[in-house]
Amino acid sequence: MIEIRNLVKTYGKVTALDDVSFDVGKGEILGFLGPNGAGKSTAMNIITGYLAPTSGSVIVDGIDVADKPLEVRKMIGYLPEQPPLYGDMTVNEYLNFICDLKSVSQKKRKNMLDDITYIVKIGDVRKRLVRNLSKGYRQRVGFAQALVGDPPILILDEPTVGLDPKQVIEFRRIINGLGRNHTIILSTHILQEVSAVCSDVVIINNGKVAGAGSISDFTSSQNGEKRFVVTFDAKREEAEALLKAVPQVKSFSFSRIEHNAVVFRVIADSKAEANKAVFFAAAEKKIPILEMKAIEKSLEEEFVSIISKDATGGEV
Ligand code: ADP
Ligand code: MG
Repeated sequence: MIEIRNLVKTYGKVTALDDVSFDVGKGEILGFLGPNGAGKSTAMNIITGYLAPTSGSVIVDGIDVADKPLEVRKMIGYLPEQPPLYGDMTVNEYLNFICDLKSVSQKKRKNMLDDITYIVKIGDVRKRLVRNLSKGYRQRVGFAQALVGDPPILILDEPTVGLDPKQVIEFRRIINGLGRNHTIILSTHILQEVSAVCSDVVIINNGKVAGAGSISDFTSSQNGEKRFVVTFDAKREEAEALLKAVPQVKSFSFSRIEHNAVVFRVIADSKAEANKAVFFAAAEKKIPILEMKAIEKSLEEEFVSIISKDATGGEV
C-alpha cells in the first residue's frame, strides 16, 4: 500500500533521514518507533506530501507522492504532531471547515460527522470552542479531522503524547477499531505503545532504519528458537518463494531493501540448521546470498539499547 524508497532529507548540515526504506502493507498498523529526533515527523511529513525529500520516493497505492501530492493526500488522513486547530471555531465549525477543504458534499457531511464524532467520542463538545477544550479532547478533534473524508490510510504522529493513561487506553481502543479496515502508520517513542496496538514495527534512529519486522518478531525470542538475518541479491518475491520452500524455516518476515538487495529475518528451531538449508536452496536457485548473520538481539532489545545509548548521549 505504501512503498518508501531511499528517503534522504537534509536540513543544512543536519541529516534528518538517511536512506530510509520500508513498506506498509494494506491493513497493517505499523508502529514507527524511535527516540526524539530520530526523524519520525520528517518522514511522516514526506509520506503525506507536505514536505519534499532531498532524494528518494514514496509511492502510495501505486501513485508517486511527488507527482500527484493532492491525489495522495485525499487517500490519507493525517494527524500531525501539532494538529492545525483553530481555537476561535467551535468543534462543529472546525469539522465543517475540514469537510470544505476535503470537498465532502453537504449531503454526506451530516452522517459522516455524526459517525466520526461517535467514534472519537466528542459528541458532547461539538458546540464548544476548540480553544476551551482539554488536551485530550483537542487531540480527539485532531483525530476527527484526520478521519474526515473516510481515507483508507491514517498517519498519526505521536497521537498519545500528552494524554493521561485513561485517555491513552481510549485512544488505543479507537485505533484498534479503525485498524480493521484502514492502513495505519503511528509514530511513537514508547515501546509499549507498539506492542499494544501495532501489527508491525519499523525502528528508526538517527535517520536510519535500525530494525523492522512483525510484532511476533518484536517480542523476545522464545527458547529453542534461532533467528538470523539474510540478505539476498534478488527480487523480494524470489527471496520469499525461496524461504517458503525451505522446510527448516519456521517463519520469516521481510525487513527492508538495502542497496537493491532484500533483507529478511528468519526464525527456525535451534536444531534445524535452517541457515545451511537456506544457503543450499539459494545456491541451487543461483540466488546470491550477500550476508547471513545470527540475531543475538530481539527487536525489543535492539530498541532498548538504542534508547539507553540515547540517554547516555552517545555510544558506550
Ligand atoms: P522525531 O519526529 O523523530 O522526533 P524529527 O523528524 O522531528 O524527529 O527531526 C529529525 C531531525 O531533524 C532532528 O535532528 C531535528 O532537529 C531535525 N529537524 C527537523 N525539522 C527541522 C527543520 N525544519 N530545520 C532543521 N532541522 C530540523
Ligand atoms: Mg516528531
